[in-house]
Order: sequence, then structure tokens, then C-alpha cells
Amino acid sequence: MINTHGHWDHAGGDAAVVAASGARVLIHEAGAPLLLDHGRHLDGYYTAGARALEQPDLVAAQRAAFPAVFGPPTAPDRLLREGDAIDLGDGVGFRVLHLPGHADDHAALYWEREGVLIAGDAAQGTGSRRGGCPLYFDGIAQARASIARLRELPFRTLHVSHPFGRLGTDERSTVYDAAGGRAFLADSLAVLDALEEALRAALRAHPEAPFPPSPAPRRRTWSARGAGRWSSTRRAAPAGAAPTLHRLWREIDGA
Ligand SMILES: [Zn+2]
Repeated sequence: MINTHGHWDHAGGDAAVVAASGARVLIHEAGAPLLLDHGRHLDGYYTAGARALEQPDLVAAQRAAFPAVFGPPTAPDRLLREGDAIDLGDGVGFRVLHLPGHADDHAALYWEREGVLIAGDAAQGTGSRRGGCPLYFDGIAQARASIARLRELPFRTLHVSHPFGRLGTDERSTVYDAAGGRAFLADSLAVLDALEEALRAALRAHPEAPFPPSPAPRRRTWSARGAGRWSSTRRAAPAGAAPTLHRLWREIDGA
């Protein structure tokens, strides 16, 4: 079982799968702490939006819900590094590409013989939720470099982990052919350009405004009871946009 990264929606449940199947767990070396320590999630990406928006009640609810969301810690059996080869037998073999940005530990997998590229969450188009935002928790510049690396590969099939949104179309997919995959990657970079342009304009217009500029997201509430789903009483910038915008703001600000 190869985790592209240690986020809850990718590595959560590892322990159950190992218990049921005896599978070995592989993850990039930077992801091992996420498999072993819930605190690395709770003090990191998992509460990043709520912390950026200064919502302590939401942070507390997320912390309380997390153990059930992720499951018990798991010790990885093999730690991956850039350039590693993973031989799955029967001629199936992947090369590991370390592609940070969405997450420090994010790895993509490339099966060169067949041109199959598993990009995980490294490139996100317009994000996984309608009206939302792509999530790059650990570096916008890194995300751009990672997407550029994906574009250099002569893949024939591109797999992504979520049906991310596209520019100029409602089409969403998790599997693309070569042309579609290249368009998706171009969209992912264009979205970052647009976000940066919009944020720079907002900062020029309101240079004194602290982040976040609007209290609207405070109207959104997190329901641990409803399987950890967002409910909203009004349309507002989703709290899910906060991590990327906060990170971008810090990079623009040189912080
Ligand atoms: Zn992720």
C-alpha cells in the first residue's frame, strides 16, 4: 500500500487495511511522522483553515473528531525518497517523484514503460469542491515547481486523487489521457496565477487588512456528528480556501 502522502483522506484507515490484509505500508520519508503521530495532523494541515480564520471552536471540534477519522497510528514498512524504484512484480514498477506543495511529503508515482503517472494531490486544478480552492498547504512556489515537473513527463495516462475542477468546463475526472492531463496541469498552474493576482490586488487595495479580511466564514460550522461535514447558513468564502490563501499571502509577504 503506497500512500502518496500522509493526509487523513489518503492514509486514514491504513491500520485497518494492514490488519485485514497484512499489506506493507510505503510512504515518503517526510510522511512517516503523519502515520505515527496524530499531533502532526492536528497541529498542521488538518486545522490550518480554522486556525488561519481564528476559529477555536472549530479547531476543538476537528481535534475531537480526528481519531475516528484517521484511525490508529501505523508504522511504515518502507520510507521512500526521490528517485526510488518500487518493483511490484510482473513488469510493474514505479519511480518515486517527491513533489511537495500540497504536502511536504507528497510523492507521485511514474510507471515509465506504460506512461502511467499517479499524481495524487500534487496538482489540483480549481480544487476538489465546487466554489472552493485548490489546497496547497506547504508551499505555493513548491507546488508550482512540482506541477512543472509533472508536465515534463511524457505520460500517456494521468491519475489524480480527487475529481478536481477545471477552468472553463464543468468536467471533472480522476483519469486523463495525455492531452486531457496536460490541459489539467496547465489549468492547475493558471489557477495559481489567478489566485496570486487576485490576492495581490486585494493586498494593494487593503494594505492594512489583517488576514483574513472578511468575517463571513465564521458563519460556517463544522458538525462532528454529521460525519464531519461542513454546514453553512450562507454562501461565503469556504474555510477550505484559507490554507492556500494564507500560505500565498505569507509567500507574497516574504514571511
Ligand atoms: Zn492531501
